[in-house]
Amino acid sequence: ALPSVAWIGLGIMGAPMAENLLKAGYSVTGYTLEEHKLDRLAAAGGTPAGSVADAVRDADVVVTMLPADAQVAAVAHGDEGVLARARPGALFIDMSSVTPRISRALAEAGAARGLRVLDAPVSGGEAGAVEGVLSVMVGGHPDDFAAAEPLLRVLGTTVVLTGPHGAGQTVKAANQLIVAVTLQACAEAVVFLEKSGVDLAAALDVLGGGLAGSAVLTRKKHAFLARDFTPGFRVDLHHKDMGIVTDAARAVGAAVPVGALVAQLVAALRAQGDGGLDHSALLRGVERLSGG
Ligand code: NAD
Repeated sequence: ALPSVAWIGLGIMGAPMAENLLKAGYSVTGYTLEEHKLDRLAAAGGTPAGSVADAVRDADVVVTMLPADAQVAAVAHGDEGVLARARPGALFIDMSSVTPRISRALAEAGAARGLRVLDAPVSGGEAGAVEGVLSVMVGGHPDDFAAAEPLLRVLGTTVVLTGPHGAGQTVKAANQLIVAVTLQACAEAVVFLEKSGVDLAAALDVLGGGLAGSAVLTRKKHAFLARDFTPGFRVDLHHKDMGIVTDAARAVGAAVPVGALVAQLVAALRAQGDGGLDHSALLRGVERLSGG
């Protein structure tokens, strides 16, 4: 029989990921803060739980998909948390994008309780989550990776063990560096093209077919053309990730000068009240710098 799953955090990413497990035949008990998201899980065939402790009690696998370090720590620790309440031997897979430091700390605390912990952040956005084609970057022990792999392959098509605990988060931080810098370059190109009076749709089509083409350019084309910045991936979350990558790079002595600059541009966007928009709203920042 397939392992039973407890899923904590049913947001933009977590909800469709949990639903893909349900479609694949897994039993999923879920917990998240908003009531209506628990109703959505029930409608998809899952079992809503009243608390983290209730959700994880009988689960073979516990997955967390939460915003940041603070929420992961709140769900993991304490008398009612995953570490205290999951059954010994269970796999605890944190798929949130958090600091490598917290992933290593979770692994250590989990091992003391007989839990097998993996960090497994993802890339591919909401569309990748819905379609089950995410890239999953995993850190942890090879045996635990092997145990988790069938489940992770329901959620993603590229599932790779990248190293020990925290390595998945380090790779995800690099992913966010590349995405932010690429997105900023695309936004600059869009403003340049529009101010030059070139047909933007035609330009983005042909750019997408050349060396400038990228998943970022293709996936964000609609957002740029329609100026539709509905998230997607919120600026607030990318701001969090730029903090993770600039801190982690400084700790190992890696220079990330362009990343640091784009981190400032993301921070400025947030300071101007656009933190709740999709990160393609970097276009707004470039427009402001260009005089509107
Ligand atoms: P989201 O804000 O839509 O969802 C987060 C969910 O966590 C919410 O539903 C909330 O109820 C739940 N939550 C928060 N605190 C909780 C608590 N204490 N107990 C139980 N549930 C709690 O965020 P998201 O966009 O789904 O992102 C989740 C993670 O995935 C983040 O780390 C993000 O950086 C990462 N990520 C997001 C995307 C994307 O495109 N949105 C892509 C890749 C990775």
